[in-house]
Amino acid sequence: MNAGNRPSVIIIGSGFGGIGMAIELRRSGFDDITILERADDIGGVWRENTYPGAACDVPSPLYSFSYEPKPDWPQRYSGQAAIHDYLHGVADRHRLLPHIHFGAEVADAEFDDTSGRWTVRTTDGISRTAEVLIPAVGQLSRPALPDLPGIDTFAGRSFHSAEWDHTVELTGKRVACIGTGASAIQYIPEIQPRVEHLTLFQRTPAWVLPKFDTDYRPIQHKLFARLPGALLAERFGWWAATEFVALGLVEIPRIASAVGAVAMRHLNKQVSDPALRAKLTPDYPIGCKRGLFSNDYFPALTQPNASVQTAAITEITPAGPRTADGTVHEADVIIYGTGFKGTEFLWPITIYGRGGRKLSDAWQSGAHAYYGITVPEFPNLFLIYGPNTNLGVGSIVYMIESQARYIRQAVELLAARPGHSLEVRADPEQRFNTALQQRLDRTPWNFCSSWYRNASGRITNNWPGTQISYRRRIRRVKAADYRLTPTS
Ligand code: NAP
Repeated sequence: MNAGNRPSVIIIGSGFGGIGMAIELRRSGFDDITILERADDIGGVWRENTYPGAACDVPSPLYSFSYEPKPDWPQRYSGQAAIHDYLHGVADRHRLLPHIHFGAEVADAEFDDTSGRWTVRTTDGISRTAEVLIPAVGQLSRPALPDLPGIDTFAGRSFHSAEWDHTVELTGKRVACIGTGASAIQYIPEIQPRVEHLTLFQRTPAWVLPKFDTDYRPIQHKLFARLPGALLAERFGWWAATEFVALGLVEIPRIASAVGAVAMRHLNKQVSDPALRAKLTPDYPIGCKRGLFSNDYFPALTQPNASVQTAAITEITPAGPRTADGTVHEADVIIYGTGFKGTEFLWPITIYGRGGRKLSDAWQSGAHAYYGITVPEFPNLFLIYGPNTNLGVGSIVYMIESQARYIRQAVELLAARPGHSLEVRADPEQRFNTALQQRLDRTPWNFCSSWYRNASGRITNNWPGTQISYRRRIRRVKAADYRLTPTS
């Protein structure tokens, strides 16, 4: 243990998770913190996703740290640049920048049973050690391209939505858009007006809800600044609304039915052509995939320069995607809005725990962890936004804050017992997972494919409950769930 029994900590990642964790530790006097960031800037997904229209569909007063309220959000659903700026401001105010090593991509991390320390190696060959390791790499940091034959043969330009190539001019071009997730629904209305033709390749239609967006006016900024209670009320209102809808996912199916009716009314109101409406009508339960919010996605698809293809893509040819009916859809640009490797937690970092055990082996049938945070046989390892901590509805920043408080308590336990490592016992973790899986069996996430489930169908990403139910359960670290082992 280092001076003053303050464990040293390495955090991987400087998105909301890494920044929130570092702040929580520093506020409790833990200052020996190193943050390793593979890029040259902080921000995680809010640095990476710069596609036109990139924004958060969780209202900003809720999608922010409770201890860092921002009275002057430009909009209720602020854009990527505003959120990225917010994170910069927070990191500056908490003086985190000196703790961050940029361009430091972690390759592997190994726990040494004898010293009770983690050795973390970056791809540039540098090794660093610390008592505590906290990966905060997110669930959506690795873009996924579809496994389509010929994908490299396309003669035009192509890119993934999370790696938007701003040098590619879309004006007057024939653009093929693959995917209908939360990303696509945001950039399609932005690019449709300027392209010659937009062909949307839809494998599964999305449930789309109206978005109650608003630009906050200067008077509201003043009100929020002078009366913090007003901003808190806005935050609380959205929190309560998301909690209510979350209840529909597991507890009260009638809520989900009511939300489904709102989505159908939205579609019927915005799309009058019966053939297009039929194509855009989901045939699986609402909530199975992430619900989406947009007022301009359907209208964009009704424009004369847009078409929706529902035949499956069988290959990418040099001229464009070929569909199962044999048609080649000629395109100048292909945009892959095809999501992320969400179930491959921590990939491609290799983590070796007690006795050299690999985390990927422990997770062979799917990632799992005690409340998504700790894993048996991986001492002093704490995950931020780990398995089963994603939400169908709600703010991940709220979840991250809950986890950061829990992990800070675990670090306090370590500080109180110098010369020990802390590890979750196998029994409570197993009991937790059995109960979790039973609850997950009752969710709508079982009835379609999505990034919430791994290849074998196990739901590895989502928390089957409300934000508050998660926060309450991890309010305190229960010492009985953990084993303290002496190190030499
Ligand atoms: P996604 O939700 O995983 O969507 C990927 C899309 O690509 C799906 O429509 C999928 O179809 C389609 N696809 C994949 N392979 C295909 C193929 N071979 N042919 C045709 N279609 C194919 O990815 P995303 O839109 O990037 O969103 C990922 C997550 O990021 C979201 O769920 C959300 O958590 C987060 N996000 C959040 C916001 C926000 O505002 N908060 C915004 C953007 C993203 P299937 O549905 O048939 O699989």
